Amino acid sequence: MELLGLILFIAVSVLIICFILVITKISEMIKEIRRAVDKLVIHANQSNSPQKPIRKTKVCGDIQCPACGRLIFHHDPFCSHCGQKLDWGEDE
Ligand SMILES: [Zn+2]
Repeated sequence: MELLGLILFIAVSVLIICFILVITKISEMIKEIRRAVDKLVIHANQSNSPQKPIRKTKVCGDIQCPACGRLIFHHDPFCSHCGQKLDWGEDE
């Protein structure tokens, strides 16, 4: 009878340890998913609100994307590299 109790105790302990491990893993996964979603939301917000392109010089054709910094074509509605919406409002 005592042996059965010991076995039961060990079985329950192992179950509890497994349960704790699973919970820890799940919470880690949730944290990681949340971080990924946050990044996506930030990126989406950046892409949705138009930003003024960066002009290095007054010369046409030397214009940089405000989000990724790569060269973009004049009057493109979006950056062809990162999808950032562009605001050309000040030009004409
Ligand atoms: Zn870009």
